[in-house]
Amino acid sequence: MNSIQEKFKKITRNQIIAFIIFAITMYGCFNTLYSIGDTGHKDALIITIVAVTMTIGFSIFTFKNWRCPNCNKFLGRFVNKGKFIKSCKSCGEELV
Ligand SMILES: [Zn+2]
Repeated sequence: MNSIQEKFKKITRNQIIAFIIFAITMYGCFNTLYSIGDTGHKDALIITIVAVTMTIGFSIFTFKNWRCPNCNKFLGRFVNKGKFIKSCKSCGEELV
């Protein structure tokens, strides 16, 4: 139940959820900025701050979350050479 594969499933799920939240927020921010059209608008600054904060937040989350459940090294790219990550490139642990 608490195997490496189970832990990796959880890591992947959290990463996908975080990415969806990030993508929706970014889409909303850019869409709103586009419709405002004026970079001098008072809301433009707030939206830019939200977008930058989300980017930083998502990066920190990825850096902390996207790690091998076995050796705790950063896993790198989710897709490599057109294939989803299957094993850890640092310790070689099978993740799926
Ligand atoms: Zn590893």
